[in-house]
Amino acid sequence: MDYDAIVIGAGNGGLTASAALARKGMQVLLLERHNIPGGCATSFCRGRFEFEVALHQLSGLGTPEQPGPLRMTLDSLGVMENLEFVEITDLYSVHMPDGFHASFKPDKNQIIAELKEKFPHENEGIDGFFDLVYKYAGDMIGAFIFRDPEPSREKYPNMYRYAFKNAKAVLDDFFKDPRLKAVISVYWGYLGISADQMAFAYLAMILFQFIEFKPYHVKGGSQALSNAILNSFFTAGGRARFNCGAQRILTEDNQVRGVVTDDGDIVEAPYVVANISPVETYTNLIDKNLIPDNTLQEMNSRTLSNSAFSMFIGFDCEPEALNIAESTNFLMSSTDITRTNHDRMNRIDIQDELLVMSCYDVSDSSFSPPGTCQVNLVTLKYGDPWLDIPPGRYHEVKFRCAESMLCRMEEIYPEIRQHIEEIDVATPLTHMRYLGHPAGSVYGFEHRTRDSLFFQPGRHSPVKGLCFAGGWTGDGGFEPTLRSGVAAAKSILKQTNK
Ligand SMILES: Cc1cc2nc3c(=O)[nH]c(=O)nc-3n(C[C@H](O)[C@H](O)[C@H](O)COP(=O)(O)OP(=O)(O)OC[C@H]3O[C@@H](n4cnc5c(N)ncnc54)[C@H](O)[C@@H]3O)c2cc1C
Repeated sequence: MDYDAIVIGAGNGGLTASAALARKGMQVLLLERHNIPGGCATSFCRGRFEFEVALHQLSGLGTPEQPGPLRMTLDSLGVMENLEFVEITDLYSVHMPDGFHASFKPDKNQIIAELKEKFPHENEGIDGFFDLVYKYAGDMIGAFIFRDPEPSREKYPNMYRYAFKNAKAVLDDFFKDPRLKAVISVYWGYLGISADQMAFAYLAMILFQFIEFKPYHVKGGSQALSNAILNSFFTAGGRARFNCGAQRILTEDNQVRGVVTDDGDIVEAPYVVANISPVETYTNLIDKNLIPDNTLQEMNSRTLSNSAFSMFIGFDCEPEALNIAESTNFLMSSTDITRTNHDRMNRIDIQDELLVMSCYDVSDSSFSPPGTCQVNLVTLKYGDPWLDIPPGRYHEVKFRCAESMLCRMEEIYPEIRQHIEEIDVATPLTHMRYLGHPAGSVYGFEHRTRDSLFFQPGRHSPVKGLCFAGGWTGDGGFEPTLRSGVAAAKSILKQTNK
């Protein structure tokens, strides 16, 4: 055999899997189709700006005194000392067209106080809701994170009680004011699932995580994180080929034998970690006859997550000149938290969608060149409608959507247009091109309540030696995908007794 393991894809999951395997002495080859590591966790340059592609807020890091799960993962890969993290001092702000604005710090007491000031008629519910969020998170940590071998309803009453309840149902139990419900559940704009279809677990855990472990950014952007993990991999003796994907996975007697690269080389190894979708793997990379019907049926029962429409804007001034005071901003045009709002992700045009606007320079003034700042303006969109656009009309449609999005931002920040120095736009087709995922999905399979964290596809495959890492195995987002690679590596090391 040429290698002990081959990792397909250098996204978060592929990078951490590669580094974790190499650091245990495995001979590993990492294959990446793009010319840089990171997948979503990359950057690109336009003019004097280096634009962040994906990371708005990093979860799960915590502080050295109160380390979160991600800090421990990165520590185990020896990359912490090569990275500098910037704590984002605000949790998020919401802006509505009627002038409503609320801003929250990542601090439970401050959030409760701010909400009570804005919604005094809901005082009691606000206390009760956050009490539940914390109790629920406590149960999840005990049962899930620490993997209690004998979880029970008695030990984890909140987890059992709310496991299959959607976030809207829980919000309805506590509150009457639709605006308050929309403000508290606005992180659905990250998760891509409206509150009535999202398991309460996701809302509870994202609030708890960001409040307790604080939201972070990485100095140098997420590309710096990807580079640091790749360096750890190289230092441990790993080898990587960029601009060279995996075209086929070779098997013999239902056991992995290696891969055929895009260059046509045959590379042998008994283990393959796929940081790509099972959809692509089972339909294009491996002999489909090897995959049992129930695996394919299970996969077909899931839906693909959304992709994204993003604008990367470099301004010739600092955030204050644009009146941007917070790093993370949700621009809302409706208090609808149901699937009606969700379904807007299925149309091409951008009108009253929920927008996320991050200005990294608010927390890190050195993020962009002196005297400038950059903004990442995103709304989540499904990829399928974009596949129907005739190629000749693509640019017209893309710029029409970008113009609508810019107008939305202008409603809140009227000075922006005259300060734009660089601008670029990514559509679901851009994500499809650079990630290679079906319909440009950025979070793997969708996590509606029925498919939520209790029913995740997991990393295992029916082919011996093949496993998955990254967003397609469970939750999307930096923290889960980075951790999923280490988990995949551990399962291989266990099989090889290393
Ligand atoms: C716009 C946007 C904003 C986001 N914001 C946040 C945020 O604020 N916080 C957060 O936690 N998460 C955020 N995310 C989500 C997060 O970025 C992703 O969940 C995570 O990076 C996905 O990692 P992954 O391991 O699944 O790999 P991916 O990033 O999906 O990478 C897969 C890699 O596989 C490669 N590949 C594909 N096919 C092949 C092949 N055949 N051979 C070789 N290589 C191949 C691709 O080129 C790619 O590099 C955001 C994502 C996007 C797109």
